Amino acid sequence: MPVLGFGTAGATGRTCVAAVGEALRVGYRLIDTASMYGNEREVGIAVRESRIPREDIFITTKVASSEQGPRSAPKALEASLGRLGLSYVDLYLIHWPARRKRVATWEAMVPFPERGLARAVGVSNFMVHHLEELRAANETLPAVNQIELSPFLHQKEVVGDCRRHGIQVEAYSPLTRGRRLKEPVIARIAAKYGKTPAQVLLRWSLQQGFVAIPKSARPERIRENAEVFDFALSPPDVRALDALDKGLHFDWDPSRVP
Ligand code: NDP
Repeated sequence: MPVLGFGTAGATGRTCVAAVGEALRVGYRLIDTASMYGNEREVGIAVRESRIPREDIFITTKVASSEQGPRSAPKALEASLGRLGLSYVDLYLIHWPARRKRVATWEAMVPFPERGLARAVGVSNFMVHHLEELRAANETLPAVNQIELSPFLHQKEVVGDCRRHGIQVEAYSPLTRGRRLKEPVIARIAAKYGKTPAQVLLRWSLQQGFVAIPKSARPERIRENAEVFDFALSPPDVRALDALDKGLHFDWDPSRVP
């Protein structure tokens, strides 16, 4: 799994085709979509237009809450594959821990790799109690847990739980959806390395061992967000960023889902 991916939430139509096309051109090899984003068709078009061999691109999509359930989850994956124009995805995630359906959905997804429909299966927005429930029900663990993470939101408990169980943590909204890029500590660190605040946030994610999936619809930012492999934050700078943790969500908070 590439450590840096490209997010597509909110990108639709031609904007999405152009953004994913640009991302593939500048070197991203992980594209994150979801049935809920309504852009799987556009992601598929951009992948085909790129002429990059299918096996060189890692594609993630997700089963929406409305599609969860033992019978509907397999149909949802088939529908996603149809829209993407692919015979398999690299990673298929449960988008949200829907209370009454998540365990049955997981059990329906476990055979997908064997059936060649998904190379791996995982979850998103699962907190410790949701993961414990899956573990109690089935011996197959999610390969990945995609959750919101940034210096403002460390989610230490669930990250620790994933690390203990060998579940790769993937950071969504790693740029705080653009809402905290002017934070003085981040600006100071960015100036020190001659980098941008967005690049500092992504570097923080990578140095935590997270896979990060920033989204942008603008070519210059798509490139900027990929240029994060030519510097490393020093331990004191990582600590200064760590000190920003305020448990701040810029997206939904799944800890309230029982
Ligand atoms: P991000 O943290 O990636 O931020 C995206 C926002 O930041 C956009 O408004 C973008 O604007 C702006 N931006 C991007 N790059 C820069 C930059 N270099 N400088 C300044 N502003 C910038 O938020 P997302 O919520 O989109 O998260 C990323 C991806 O994670 C999603 O696209 C989706 O694939 C996934 N995700 C998954 C969720 C889940 O429940 N599993 C929930 C939320 C996200 P512009 O486009 O105009 O550049």
